[in-house]
Amino acid sequence: MKVTFAHMGYMYICLKALLKSLDIEVIVPPMSSKRTLTLGTQHSPEFACLPLKINLGNFIEAYELGADTVIMAGGIGPCRFGYYAQIQQEILQDLGYNIKMVVLEPPQKHISELLIKIREVTGNRPWSDVVKAIRFAWYKAKAVDEVERVVHRLRPREIELGTVDEVFKKALEWIDEAENKKQLDKAVDKAKYSLGSIPVDNTRTPVRIGIVGEIYVMLEHFVNLDIERQLGRLGVEVERSIYLSEWINDHLFMGLLRVKSSKAARAYAPPYVNHFVGGHGQETIGSTVVFAKAKYDGVIQVQPFTCMPEIIAESILPTVSRDYDIPTFCLIVDEHSGDAGVLTRLEAFVDLLNIKKEKSTAAY
Ligand code: SF4
Repeated sequence: MKVTFAHMGYMYICLKALLKSLDIEVIVPPMSSKRTLTLGTQHSPEFACLPLKINLGNFIEAYELGADTVIMAGGIGPCRFGYYAQIQQEILQDLGYNIKMVVLEPPQKHISELLIKIREVTGNRPWSDVVKAIRFAWYKAKAVDEVERVVHRLRPREIELGTVDEVFKKALEWIDEAENKKQLDKAVDKAKYSLGSIPVDNTRTPVRIGIVGEIYVMLEHFVNLDIERQLGRLGVEVERSIYLSEWINDHLFMGLLRVKSSKAARAYAPPYVNHFVGGHGQETIGSTVVFAKAKYDGVIQVQPFTCMPEIIAESILPTVSRDYDIPTFCLIVDEHSGDAGVLTRLEAFVDLLNIKKEKSTAAY
């Protein structure tokens, strides 16, 4: 069995750790690229969500490298995520690809539902090994998130543009290469030390922007046109409403682990959204309120074109923006989005926030 998966940000690091710890051969698809997008778009229904198309491209590229099994997260609720895996499987079959799909549906009642599904890939490995491998993969997700938070703080303060990203790239490799918890802890320490050694200007008070929206677009840099790095280089300190380890905990572990849960953001969604609207629509509104209360200068909502939950949230955001006096900006991406156009719009939004911030500072 040669197992693959779809890319979503740095999730490949955790999934690779999980599968390798169980001695399962893993084929990591090439990082998402124009080719991935072209392959996915070519074979998907035009109005399918963008993540479905790119994931399909990932599977095709992994198949070309020899993968025969895909593990894929499933979904529930009133949006199209719940049908992704089935549609992708049918498309792959129609194309003549002989590839098995194992869908990890979010457990409804008990975590054992997820473990049973994982067994389809792990075979008869003892439960203790499976649990140990899951735990190690989870530590990797947390390690990536920990380092990413430091990167977000340093980017707008670095003296020489691009230094933080160079170290971050190496840090991801150190985390990826760690083969046990001890090595992983060392990798995180080394990453923090290296990042901490970068010359920065701590007198800067950058504008702070919260990123909210659809989870895949938030986490996948190829799709969001590397928005966090672009903003960092524009001198913005970025914070994301959800990190990889938090999504894994919410979506697959029923929120059982002790990390921030999206429940906290959902609590702030009423009276704007009082019930689940699918995806992260509720969290988008709740997180915007949370960022406003924390005195962030602005919020950017990212979403794929035609994303149902985020369209609902987008229509409500102007009200939240007015009530809390926080500027918001919506970035919708599809297969036609280009770096230059997005950068121009980001620059305009950041200029606006800088002017607002200067005015309010001058007023005191
Ligand atoms: S959350 Fe949006 S992009 Fe994701 S599956 Fe649902 S509708 Fe599609």
